[in-house]
Amino acid sequence: MKRSVSRKQARYVYSFGGRKADGNGTMKEILGGKGSGLAEMTNIGLPVPPGFTISTNVCTHYFEHDRSYPKGLEAKVVQALRAVEKLQKKKFGDRGNPLLLSVRSGARSSMPGMMDTILNLGLNDSTVEGLVARTRNERFAYDSYRRFIQMYGDVVLRMKPSAKDDVNPFEAIMERKKKERGVEHDIDLTASDLRELVGLFKREIRSTRGVDFPEDPVEQLWGAIGAVFGSWMNERAIAYRKLYDIPGSWGTAVNVQSMVFGNMGDDSGTGVAFTRNPATGENAFYGEFLMNAQGEDVVAGIRTPLPIEQLREKNPKVYGQLLRVRQTLERHYRDMQDLEFTIQEGMLYMLQTRAAKRTGFAAIRIAVDMVDEGLISEKEAIGRIEPDQLNHLLRPVFDSDQKSVALRNDRLLAKGLNAGPGAATGKVVFNAADAVQWAGRGEKVILVRVETSPEDIKGMSAADGILTARGGMTSHAALVGRQMGKVCVVGCGALNIDYPRRSMNVNGKQVREGDAISIDGTTGEVILGEIETRPSEVLQVLLAKTLSPASSSVYRQYAKLMSWADRFRRLRVRTNADQPDQCEVAIAFGAEGIGLCRTEHMFFGGDRIDAVREMILADTESGRRKALAKLLPMQREDFVGIFRVMKDRPVTVRTLDPPLHEFLPHTEKEIEVLSSRIGVSVEKIHQRLNQLHEFNPMLGHRGCRLGIVFPEITEMQVRAIIEAACSVKKEGVNVHPEIMIPLVGHVNELKNQDRLVRTVAKQVFVESGISVDYLVGTMIELPRAALTADEIASVAEFFSYGTNDLTQTTFGLSRDDAGVFLQKYFDMNILERDPFQTIDREGVGLLMKIGTEKGRSVNKKLKVGICGEHGGDPSTIEFCHQLDFAYVSCSPFRVPIARLAAARAMVRDNGTSRKARTRRSRAG
Ligand code: PEP
Ligand code: MG
Repeated sequence: MKRSVSRKQARYVYSFGGRKADGNGTMKEILGGKGSGLAEMTNIGLPVPPGFTISTNVCTHYFEHDRSYPKGLEAKVVQALRAVEKLQKKKFGDRGNPLLLSVRSGARSSMPGMMDTILNLGLNDSTVEGLVARTRNERFAYDSYRRFIQMYGDVVLRMKPSAKDDVNPFEAIMERKKKERGVEHDIDLTASDLRELVGLFKREIRSTRGVDFPEDPVEQLWGAIGAVFGSWMNERAIAYRKLYDIPGSWGTAVNVQSMVFGNMGDDSGTGVAFTRNPATGENAFYGEFLMNAQGEDVVAGIRTPLPIEQLREKNPKVYGQLLRVRQTLERHYRDMQDLEFTIQEGMLYMLQTRAAKRTGFAAIRIAVDMVDEGLISEKEAIGRIEPDQLNHLLRPVFDSDQKSVALRNDRLLAKGLNAGPGAATGKVVFNAADAVQWAGRGEKVILVRVETSPEDIKGMSAADGILTARGGMTSHAALVGRQMGKVCVVGCGALNIDYPRRSMNVNGKQVREGDAISIDGTTGEVILGEIETRPSEVLQVLLAKTLSPASSSVYRQYAKLMSWADRFRRLRVRTNADQPDQCEVAIAFGAEGIGLCRTEHMFFGGDRIDAVREMILADTESGRRKALAKLLPMQREDFVGIFRVMKDRPVTVRTLDPPLHEFLPHTEKEIEVLSSRIGVSVEKIHQRLNQLHEFNPMLGHRGCRLGIVFPEITEMQVRAIIEAACSVKKEGVNVHPEIMIPLVGHVNELKNQDRLVRTVAKQVFVESGISVDYLVGTMIELPRAALTADEIASVAEFFSYGTNDLTQTTFGLSRDDAGVFLQKYFDMNILERDPFQTIDREGVGLLMKIGTEKGRSVNKKLKVGICGEHGGDPSTIEFCHQLDFAYVSCSPFRVPIARLAAARAMVRDNGTSRKARTRRSRAG
């Protein structure tokens, strides 16, 4: 057994062709997405041109060994090549009947357009004549040849310019030739023009690179293989991997495949299709094609392709065959696929299939529909939706009144294809670098390009919306925009863009850099000026109640998915909220309690800040108590409001946490105003400000240290909480307050505050003649608290991990200042992810694990949760599930995401252990 595994690992080349493949669809890790798709399609009998895949292991070896190949690879490649020759009845490098190859990248996770591809490989001055003779089409043969030389020059000899304004030397030669011939399109050049171009291209290579274009097909092949492996480490591939968390260690595979030609005349063509609509998820075949074109023409967005239905008229036989392929692939993969195909002289060939990228809307609709169609289970549906995709459904749409006004006022500039749904308004920029720069200074921008290319990836990411003049629904802009969840309109042919002038003319209207436009990615409309946005359909049903569930299919799909998520998950989901309206939003999104109510936020409302400042400025306890007495009724009303909304759900209220000086005035003007309002002299305020100054306030007089030194603050807060709880209970609501003490590092700190809480609560119960059940617990946000959690759990009834502070204190990294240098850490791969967003499992996570185990070792009923920002992060949620927490708590808008992430965590670990189930019964 062991031997067969190691033999498998050592295998470098996997052949496919003739209905048989060495690999299959489960081998993405070794074959990459494209390679495993080709193998699988071959195995299920679809028409795939034969070829072979050089595995990702070779890529790893290549970079670990100074860009060299493992021993024995060459022989295996030759062997695989011979097999392709046999199947195709052609010979590589043969002048009579030459085999031509494509060489393409293909990583485990798709990285559209980020790496390199070379087509028509094997052509040289002698084989091109063989191609002419075989095809009896000199123009086609020389067009293929000049394309190959250009690609080889661009990719292998790295002649493609990297600066955005530089011109590609081959394109410049081509343009000159067209001018000389007085023609507009490439297609108008004759065979002899193309033959001349071949000579000119070769001369260009010799003069700029000092080498000859290699005539030897074997040398061409190894040059191309090396270039494709090398492209794994090009700048844009690295940037893309960063954006999507794809590890550099995965590597790419290289697929070498027999060429088929979509540019052999009017009975040839090429296209890309989706088995369903990738923007909306509608169950309809969706795709685009171009006749007499090569595959790259469709994806690159150079010509705007035709909708797939038109293929029915042009070639009903191939169209019918494609429909059958669609069905076969969907049934086989049980997921929406995208596919690439080529038609060569009326014959259909499949060149790629993979699980298709889709918008959040489409992902949810497809998953829900496929459950209804009996293709997948509810659990599988849950596993297929990335939690962050739910964000798409919650994204704003344009205010319909404002939009109608804009349309009536003739502000509709043009209409393009609706590639990425949603509404975006922003300032126009015409290149990616500007998009990054403008967004960096806080502007909302719409990136407008003739077409996008992989170099634009950072700009696309920075922009709020993407608009292109060319390209279809499968163009680079559409694919990448959709994946990023951007509002995106493509193929808007009316845009007449003038890059040097940084402006565009659209149907006679001039739009300059910095002008505001609005794009509607759901309809494809491009509108001049700003338009206000309003909440998504889901929010309109849930919050504004301006839409009924019956009239929103998007809402109904969302609700169905969420009901499955709730059925599967074990973790409860609470919210961080400190106002009744926030609580309402969170409940509408499915929150099951409050995990963190930060009372300090309440101190800023209305004129209560004056009373807070008076309390802080007081010298004596009695002075403080006088000011606190003013705050008490206001705090009580806050809590009454919250308890009323939250009803019988648990509500965790934290006692005062931030350093006191955060509440004090800072400017002279503010100081003067305060002085006259509370009757304390300006000098006195200055004096107190100086006294309160701390060098390191985050590690200073804050958290429970405030309530210990000034117990009257905790007393007032506890009184407000318990009085509010009693009064709402009198209204018939079964309230569940949980009082949480922040920044505890030593059990004695908690003992001190716990005593105080219980004393005050008892007093209130006596006074009000009613009592409520409540808990006292603590945040675990200091390493010492985690390490001594057993001692702390002897007092605490619950732990809530304050992972913002716990990350800060574990790394010794200021949460307020780290942004300045953390980016550098990511760039240098010192840290892979922002530890303030996703829990650092090895360090901070280890403390969480230790703390939880120690806590539970002395208190079996200890309720454990998390309320730091990480509580809304899917990876952290999975970790909390693994630690068997009772709940996660996050901001209201992340509640649906957390519900889904919690369900996915459960589905993934198949978490049906009895221990887990028992705990759930007392969770929450
Ligand atoms: C925390 O530290 O994680 C926390 C929730 O508290 P705050 O962010 O208010 O410090
Ligand atoms: Mg904290």
